[in-house]
Amino acid sequence: MKTKKTFFLFIFFISFIGLISFSPKVEIEKPKPNKLKAKYVFLFIGDGMGMAHIYITNEYLKLHKQPQLSFINFPYYAFTTTFCADSMRITDSAAAGTAIATGSKTNSGVLGMLPKTGEKFTSIAEIAKQNGFKVGILSSVGMNHATPAAFYAKQPKRSMYKEIAEDMARSNFDLFAGGGLYAKDKNELNYLFNNLKTNGYRIFFNEITFNKELDSDKKLFYTANADTIPGFAIPYRIDQKESDVTLSEYVDFGIQFLENETGFFMMAEGGKIDWAAHDNDGATTVKEVIDFDLAVKKALDFYQKHPNETLIIVTADHETGGITFGQDQMGYKTNFLKLDQQKMSEEVFTKLLTDNKSNGVYQLVNTNFELKLPENFYKSTDPKSISNQVTDSLNRSAGIGWTTGSHTGSPVLTFAIGVGSEQFRGNIDNTDIIRFIQNATLLKKK
Ligand SMILES: [Zn+2]
Repeated sequence: MKTKKTFFLFIFFISFIGLISFSPKVEIEKPKPNKLKAKYVFLFIGDGMGMAHIYITNEYLKLHKQPQLSFINFPYYAFTTTFCADSMRITDSAAAGTAIATGSKTNSGVLGMLPKTGEKFTSIAEIAKQNGFKVGILSSVGMNHATPAAFYAKQPKRSMYKEIAEDMARSNFDLFAGGGLYAKDKNELNYLFNNLKTNGYRIFFNEITFNKELDSDKKLFYTANADTIPGFAIPYRIDQKESDVTLSEYVDFGIQFLENETGFFMMAEGGKIDWAAHDNDGATTVKEVIDFDLAVKKALDFYQKHPNETLIIVTADHETGGITFGQDQMGYKTNFLKLDQQKMSEEVFTKLLTDNKSNGVYQLVNTNFELKLPENFYKSTDPKSISNQVTDSLNRSAGIGWTTGSHTGSPVLTFAIGVGSEQFRGNIDNTDIIRFIQNATLLKKK
């Protein structure tokens, strides 16, 4: 009898230990079923925009007493994993774009397919088009670059720009707007634009405003100033001139061009947040996030007019640079206003140094970064290296650190507002996004 009692006590004890050592999975209250249907879907992708990119930018805006980033206050957001199918775990934009666009993981560098089996995936943009939605793909970088390409191309390598642009011409999407096309040379660029024309696209190389004559039923490729430059991208916000057409202007145009009774799907990418972060260029990165948010605000204006029919999603394909809020030189202090001393991107400053060797590096640094650095500061005479040291010095004094010139595997955030936005919460993977859009719109693959 005593043995039996001890046995039961033992079992009880074991079960208790089991209960406390395996913490129960937290049940998140299921979102209420939504009776509304989203007709207008905006998917904004900040390339490389991790949580710290967002938070540093928001603090910078607060210091300037300017409104916070619009999307930071969206009612729903989710912790979003970004890993790719390869064992490397850290994704590039092609695999991450594919995961977001199609809901399927692939290897880094691959677009819209599995490289081994050749299986091709269908993107949300293609599904939207099959269902009679108008589709617009917008980006601040070239339209056959990885992120926009993930919505229409099926190619084993992201560097196959010619084949990707040929997939674009066949996509039948209504609008491509923003950057130009990557091509190996001018001849290939001419061929690619002609191929778009053959496939029924009208092409505009100059700034256009939406008007009634611009028949929305005809497909359009719109990029200001890209006709002679392979890989034309919109200049960084920090380098922009008054005459440059910005991402927010393209989004504004896109809304007018795509609006129709059935609905539309628009993907808009802030592609150069990633580029600035690869350069570890803090001021340029912060200003790119601000530029990206101006584009999101255009969608929010539209949402205010159609709150029961619109879904806006803001996400990132991965984190770039391992940027940190705080840096060892500054300890617990930050001074993000220091970033205002920088007058141009590191990229443009490198070019300036290359073109103006005779003007003296110290003078150029003083004029464009308001920095007086010790005479022996530069360890190299290479313009790229000098430029890099200058931005590094400024970042440190602002309290911004970087851990890599590559991507990281840190999760990103996905923000959502509008019809179906309540699905974006808790811990999600980037492959869930397409499913949530389909739930919100009832769009089905045909
Ligand atoms: Zn990148």
